[in-house]
Amino acid sequence: MKIFNTLTRTKDEFVPINEGKVGIYVCGPTVYDYIHIGNARPMIVFDTLRRYLEYKGYEVNYVSNFTDVDDKIIKRANEQNVDSKVISERYIEEAKKDMAAMNVREATTHPKATEEIPDMIEMVKVLIEKGYAYEVNGTVYFRTRKFSDYGKLSKKNIDDLRSGNRDLLVSGENEKEDSLDFVLWKPKKEGEPSWDSPWGEGRPGWHLECSVMSKKYIGDVIDIHAGGEDLIFPHHENEIAQSEAANGTEFARYWMHNGFLKINNEKMSKSLGNFFTVREIADKYPLQVIRFFMLSAHYRSPLNFSSDLVEASKNGLARILTAVEKLHSITATDLIGEDMTVNKELEAYVTRFEAAMDDDLNTADAISVIFELIKYTNINITAETPKKTIDMALATIEKLCDVLGIITEQEEELLDSDIEALIQERQEARKAKNFARADEIRNMLSDMGIILEDTREGVKWKRA
Ligand code: AMP
Ligand code: ZN
Repeated sequence: MKIFNTLTRTKDEFVPINEGKVGIYVCGPTVYDYIHIGNARPMIVFDTLRRYLEYKGYEVNYVSNFTDVDDKIIKRANEQNVDSKVISERYIEEAKKDMAAMNVREATTHPKATEEIPDMIEMVKVLIEKGYAYEVNGTVYFRTRKFSDYGKLSKKNIDDLRSGNRDLLVSGENEKEDSLDFVLWKPKKEGEPSWDSPWGEGRPGWHLECSVMSKKYIGDVIDIHAGGEDLIFPHHENEIAQSEAANGTEFARYWMHNGFLKINNEKMSKSLGNFFTVREIADKYPLQVIRFFMLSAHYRSPLNFSSDLVEASKNGLARILTAVEKLHSITATDLIGEDMTVNKELEAYVTRFEAAMDDDLNTADAISVIFELIKYTNINITAETPKKTIDMALATIEKLCDVLGIITEQEEELLDSDIEALIQERQEARKAKNFARADEIRNMLSDMGIILEDTREGVKWKRA
């Protein structure tokens, strides 16, 4: 597989550090509100990368953090007069719900910054010992100039950055040795969450969090580091500087960055009134449609979100689901044979799908191949096709859709309210001594994966 590597600016053949294994770190959201539709793009894109690597047989260690200590969280907590943990915990839960609805799988580990503070302090200590960091009045800064590779990811020249930053020097940042130095640890301000450290009470800088969490859950060297393109500078550049200075080894082998999502060709922003959370979009479209829409473009291209384009994705997805349904409904007359010509054709579509995905995760082309495959099966699979071949056609479509995280079984979602209504009906049947009906309902629920428990306080249920 080839991956466009922001570090080399070329499509590089992907070779993992350890054969058969891949460690991926994706910068996650800052949890002070519901995730917005822009945040959904890296989640969907890199979840698809993970699925594809697993499809190819790799064991993937997928780590994506939640930034749960940050100015925005503290501000929101102060506005609502609650602890900032209340805000971050609430929006982590909500983010997880949105992710599940977009069929984004849970990461192997979702570390939270606030739970990794001791390791952050350790890394700052190492950086100070090695001469890469210094403390002034409770703030620890990274000595950017000392890291000779600074700028290698963003292709920025340190001297250009310095002249661009001159303004900062006169605006009160004079405790820094150099205007380019960035914060590793900041001292506590009144009303802010803080932790004890050798430099006094305080909290970590944002860049440090990712360097530490990726090291802990993946290792000093990670295979793929990913996030949105806005993170290239300064966030990822600073992560490289901290990690490589502290660990004395290369930080990430491949850097992948998704392009930005715009709304009606404008930058999404609250002031323009075109800012949407995933939750708001979910009122208008099933989030499966949003996933399909996000994958309809190459991940590095800018993507424009408009109702026309989402509508087109809705229709596209419906075409696939209808074809799958049709295949399910065909009852083959030939129950034993196989159609080797059709089988070969099906395999050829799989090969083309893989070629698209191997080319820097070209999901747009991969979706085109699925559409062609659908067209082919619509024309060529009939009641005369042997059952084995119909099954293979179905399995092929389902397999490719699963790589993209597109759910093909159109099971009616079983809502809590439906379950409770059935339980109520069962109770009434029991009261009326209609035990046959009561058992029937229990079995029906059990088939749907709902387990009932008769307790003294009434009937309790859970999903299996
Ligand atoms: P944040 O919570 O702002 O740190 O963002 C979390 C992730 O979402 C990062 O990888 C960002 O690059 C990404 N992101 C934020 N806004 C957009 C957008 N409009 N389009 C695509 N990705 C975005
Ligand atoms: Zn990060």
